[in-house]
Amino acid sequence: MSYQVKEIYLTLQGEGAQTGRLAVFLRFAGCNLWTGREKDRASALCRFCDTDFIGTDGRHGGKYGDAEKLAETVNALWPEDQNHKLVVCTGGEPFLQLDSTLIKAMQARGFTVAAETNGTLPAPEGMDWICVSPKGQSPLAQTSGHELKLVYPQNEQEAQPENFAHLPFQHFFLQPLDQPDHFQASQNNLKACLDYCRTHPQWRLSLQTHKMIGID
Ligand code: SF4
Repeated sequence: MSYQVKEIYLTLQGEGAQTGRLAVFLRFAGCNLWTGREKDRASALCRFCDTDFIGTDGRHGGKYGDAEKLAETVNALWPEDQNHKLVVCTGGEPFLQLDSTLIKAMQARGFTVAAETNGTLPAPEGMDWICVSPKGQSPLAQTSGHELKLVYPQNEQEAQPENFAHLPFQHFFLQPLDQPDHFQASQNNLKACLDYCRTHPQWRLSLQTHKMIGID
């Protein structure tokens, strides 16, 4: 198995239950809900993506021929002689490529292996932490995990929080839909999240702190 990787970098996790924690971000190229090209956005299954996941041209990006080599690149970014290793597999959609061979290779180097997925594909065997972020009308194949993080509000009936509240996740987050060129719309989205969390205490607010403080 080879892996198409957009970029790999060390940062702090910006959102969700692991906010503020040091992590290697392993961004796989490609997504099954959008091509990543602006001309296709209006007709995509997911239309509010804020990530460049096309190609393999980012930091440490490339086509990795085997899991050991990729795991070694991830490991080399972690501070020497430090434990508490966390790798967040993201994309694009990581479950298009992440497999149990790579998971094991990273765990063998001491990593907790987390993923941020749109949930439309089942998780590979052996994941340590699964964060599912449902998108629009796309049905979930992965209906359990550690964290369900819903970008809110979304128009589609299928993407309302009530549809997910009964699922077996440990944490439920609402994250305001970011509309970078529309300040007032973003403020309205934040208010919608606050209003919902105030009346549905199962749900917690997730903010994209990396955008606030200007890190990747
Ligand atoms: S599912 Fe995630 S990676 Fe894919 S287009 Fe939507 S936000 Fe972007």
